[in-house]
Amino acid sequence: MDSLTNGEFSFSPETQHRDFELLTQALDASISGMIITDNQQPDNPIIYCNTAFEKMTGYSRKEIIGRNCRLLQGEDRSQKERDIIKNAIQQGEHCVVEIRNYTKTGELFWNELYVSPIKNATGNVTHFIGVQHDVTRRKKAELELLHQQDVMEKKIEERTKVIRESEEYLASIYQTVRESLIVLDPDFKVLSINYHFLKTFKVSVGETEGKGLYELGNGQWNIAKLKELLESILPTNNPVENFEVEHDFPHIGRKVMLLNAHRVELEGQYKDRILIAIEDITDRREIERRKDDFLSIASHELRTPLTTIKGYVQMMIRFMPEGANEKFKNIVDKTGLYVERLNTLIAELLDVSRIQTGNIELHKEPFDFDKMIYETVEGMQTANKEHRIIVRGRSTNNFTGDESHLVQVMNNLLSNAIKYAPDAREVQVYLSLVSNYLKVSVTDYGMGISSDDQKRIFERFYRAGEIQQHFPGMGIGLYVCDQIIKNHGGILWVESEKGKGSTFSFTLPLNEKDNHE
Ligand code: ADP
Repeated sequence: MDSLTNGEFSFSPETQHRDFELLTQALDASISGMIITDNQQPDNPIIYCNTAFEKMTGYSRKEIIGRNCRLLQGEDRSQKERDIIKNAIQQGEHCVVEIRNYTKTGELFWNELYVSPIKNATGNVTHFIGVQHDVTRRKKAELELLHQQDVMEKKIEERTKVIRESEEYLASIYQTVRESLIVLDPDFKVLSINYHFLKTFKVSVGETEGKGLYELGNGQWNIAKLKELLESILPTNNPVENFEVEHDFPHIGRKVMLLNAHRVELEGQYKDRILIAIEDITDRREIERRKDDFLSIASHELRTPLTTIKGYVQMMIRFMPEGANEKFKNIVDKTGLYVERLNTLIAELLDVSRIQTGNIELHKEPFDFDKMIYETVEGMQTANKEHRIIVRGRSTNNFTGDESHLVQVMNNLLSNAIKYAPDAREVQVYLSLVSNYLKVSVTDYGMGISSDDQKRIFERFYRAGEIQQHFPGMGIGLYVCDQIIKNHGGILWVESEKGKGSTFSFTLPLNEKDNHE
C-alpha cells in the first residue's frame, strides 16, 4: 500500500504503520463496502477492499485484489451507468450511480456506488475510492412501485377507452332510437334532447336546450300531477311510468303522448339527472278506439238476432209435441245450450266495450254472498263432472254488491280453473273474512302461469302464448273480472307456479261506503 503514502506527509515509519493499521481496522468496521483502485497501473486494478465489500460481493479479498471493477458486472454490460463511471474516471471526477452488480454466485444486487478520485500534489488522479451500498431491497420496492404504476396507468387507459366507447355507444343509441328523449338537470332545465324529439315536436335545439321543461312549447308539460311525479324522482328514485298527456301541441296539433321518466344512473355517475322518454301513441289510441267501436257495434248487432233465436228455441221447448222423438228433443236442448253459451260470450264482449266507454253499470243490492258462491259452484259442478269443486270456509251472508256480475266473476275463475287444468281432478274454493274484507280464493292444480304472463293476463285480449291453439277463449274473462272487482272497491290477483297450478283470489270491502272504485 505504498502508493497510498504521500510525499507531503512527514510521519516516521512507525507512526505511519500504526496509523495505517488503525485506518484499515476502521475501514473493516464500516458497513459500507469500500475499494481503492490504482489509476496509475494499467486497467485501474483494485488494490484494496474492506470486509463489507467481501460480504457484499461474496468474493474473498484475494480474489478481488488486482482485478478491475467490471468483475462485478458479469454479462450485464449494457448499462448506461457504466458510461457515467467511465466518464468520471476519465475526467477525474466524482460520480454516484445505482448499478446492477452480481455476486460471486451470480446473484443480482443493486449497488449504490460513490466513486471519488484521489489526486496527487500535481493534480493527477492516482487512485479512485469506491464506496458501495447494497440497495437491492429499496430498488426492488422502487421497481415494484414503478411496475404497479405502469399497471395502474394501463388499467386507467383501458378503462378510459371503455368509458369513451360506451359513451359514444350510448350517444349513438340516444340519437337513433325512435322515442323522443330529454335529459333534465335537477332544476328541470333541459340539458339535451335527441334528434327524434326535434323531429316529433318540430322544434330546434335553440328553442329547447337550457329552457325549463315546463316552459317548453305552450306549456304542454306544465301539468300539476306530472310535476309532482317528476319532482319526486330524484329524492325517492321512483320512476314515472306511462303518464299520458293529451294536448294541442304547437306545430303538430292534438296528440296523445306517453311519458316515462327515470333518474339517470351510469355506473354511479350522473345521479342527479332525469331522463324522460316520450312516445307518440296517437295512432295506437286511434286504432284501439276503432277496434272498440267495432267490438261494441258487432256485439250489439249480434245480440239482436240472437235474442230472437233464443226466443224461438224457448218456444220450441215449450211447444214440443207430446211424445216427440227423443233425438229431436235432444237436438232442441243442445241448441238451447249453445245459444246460451253464445249469449254469454256476446254479453262478455259487450261488457268489454262498456268498460272501455266507462258504461258498465253495477246494480248493488244486499245479498247472501256465501249462498251465491255455493250455488255458482253447484251449477259449475253439474256441468263439469271431471273435476270435483270443493268449497271451504265462510265469509258473509250479507254483502252489498252486484250479484249477477259477481256470479260472472266466479263462473270465469271456476271455468278457467277447470279449462287450464285438464289433467287435475280437483278445484278448491276458499272463503274467509280478513279484517273488514271478504276474501275468495280459487285454486287449481293445472298448468300454472309464468311470472311474465302473470303480469299481463288481466289485460284485455291477452292470452298466454303457448295455450292459444290448445284451449278456446278470447282473453277477456279476467279483464272483465278485474274490472268488476275494481268497481266494487276490491282487488283481484293471481299466485301461480308454472306446472303446479294457480290461485286466483279477490277481496271485497264489507263496508258499503268503500264498496266502489
Ligand atoms: P281466456 O281463458 O278466454 O283466454 P281469460 O281472460 O279468462 O281468457 O284468461 C286470460 C289468460 O290467462 C288465459 O288465456 C290463460 O293463458 C291464463 N289463465 C287464466 N286462468 C288460468 C288458470 N287457472 N291457469 C292457467 N292459466 C290461466
